[in-house]
Amino acid sequence: MSTQSTPAEVSMETIVALCKRRGFIFQSSEIYGGLNGFFDYGPLGSEMKKNIRDCWWNDMVRRRDDIVGIESSIIMHPKVWEASGHIAGFTDPLVDCKASKQRYRADQLFFSPVVVDGKTVGYVSALEGENTAAELQSAAETLKRKKAIQGELAPVQPKDLTEAQPDEIPLIPSPATGEPGSLTPPRAFNMMFETYVGALRDASAVAYLRPETAQGMFVDFKNVVDTGRVKLPFGIAQVGKSFRNEITPRNFIFRSREFEQMEMEYFIHEDADWAQCHKDWIEWCRQWLISIGLPDSHLSLYDHPKAKLSFYSKGTTDIMFKYPFGVQELWGIAARGNYDLTQHAEASGKPQEIFDEATKKKFVPHVIEPAVGTDRIFLAALCAAYAEEQVTDEKGNTETRIVLRLSPRIAPVKVAVLPLLKNKEALVGRAQELYKKIKRKYTAFYDESGAIGRRYRRQDEIGTPWCVTIDFDTIEKDGTFTLRDRDTMQQTRITEAELFALLEEKVY
Ligand code: ATP
Repeated sequence: MSTQSTPAEVSMETIVALCKRRGFIFQSSEIYGGLNGFFDYGPLGSEMKKNIRDCWWNDMVRRRDDIVGIESSIIMHPKVWEASGHIAGFTDPLVDCKASKQRYRADQLFFSPVVVDGKTVGYVSALEGENTAAELQSAAETLKRKKAIQGELAPVQPKDLTEAQPDEIPLIPSPATGEPGSLTPPRAFNMMFETYVGALRDASAVAYLRPETAQGMFVDFKNVVDTGRVKLPFGIAQVGKSFRNEITPRNFIFRSREFEQMEMEYFIHEDADWAQCHKDWIEWCRQWLISIGLPDSHLSLYDHPKAKLSFYSKGTTDIMFKYPFGVQELWGIAARGNYDLTQHAEASGKPQEIFDEATKKKFVPHVIEPAVGTDRIFLAALCAAYAEEQVTDEKGNTETRIVLRLSPRIAPVKVAVLPLLKNKEALVGRAQELYKKIKRKYTAFYDESGAIGRRYRRQDEIGTPWCVTIDFDTIEKDGTFTLRDRDTMQQTRITEAELFALLEEKVY
């Protein structure tokens, strides 16, 4: 018997603690105090991340006829980033607090004038969060009380610091000190990590760690067209590390400085119905997230307002996920026109065109770009899967069971094989034999220590969908074993062939 908590109730502290306790994710360089914005994936985490990546690659590339994969280098010619606009414009607005030496992203630092009876009597500030407006309102009430001002307090008008007038900046309190006067006006901060290639350390040797994988697809476009036997519409996909010197890495692996991206550039004819294609890709991405276990109820769409789009962009829609810290971008699907290929054609002097057999004309294809971070999917999947349940055992005792209801597609371990007793050679022998057979194709875990109930709980906590128990009936009677289902906790007897059929159906 069990009662289930909803995924949204889980806190980030709980998820971070579970990740460390069970070896999903560690702080990078932890023995040296960690490095802000960098993480390591442990034994279970690296399996689960690989599963997410493999599912994406299989569904996006291998199972389709119109998409091919590449793997481009992380450090590319610096001219790539000049042409793409990253050197000039890949910036976030940075604000310093001179008093505390803290740095903030101006678009994540909110403020409001405090208005009493129509008169501004001061300013309040708060960092972006789920309750920013409420925090600002409560700070405004405190300020009014502190200053002993009578009158009616107007509701706060939250704006971010990029919208502040120059004469307002000195009046806005720093979130670090609570005092005004120490915040600098926002300035552009380029997020690319610089390095040097070769033995020289001068300006001619400067190169960058890529801040996105997408440029690899544009720069290799002609190579793929000339060798890949592709015909429009077609896509080029890749998975790999990207690096951004984020001003405020936060929310665990949600915003880090080194992360993995899974991006695809879908090239279409210049006259194609880009809006329909964009819509189709948004739906494909949403369905794919559902296929790896993200609940539809936690997904929503956000259309970027036309006024905030880059001049070349035709439209961008983000698939948002309801994380414990708020609804945030998970997957961006952008219609980028032919901007990137045109830029590279101009900068390199090499035309990036395709010949249209129908019109006998050359043109630069347009592109739809679904771009997602593997780490953000990982975090979303964990948050949605986590549940704490009150369960009652057959003796009537109640206990809390922690269970990760991960989709079998991405669960780090698919099956745990448990001999009922560890001191019975026949049970152990059969369990080992089955374990080795499963391991040829699926991740499996062998566990013979402790009471069977405790062994089930250990698997529940890491999201293993099935446990099989080898008991005396297995070796003495019909060879069947007990299959215990993680979510329902139901036990059924099945044959080896049925187990493999189940795995074949659910793990793909
Ligand atoms: P944000 O607005 O959250 O900074 P973005 O719009 O700059 O993200 P894109 O440049 O569109 O992000 O990158 C595509 C995807 O890469 C994002 O949707 C996200 O899933 C992932 N991503 C981007 N930055 C990070 C990061 N710092 N850490 C982890 N994942 C990231």
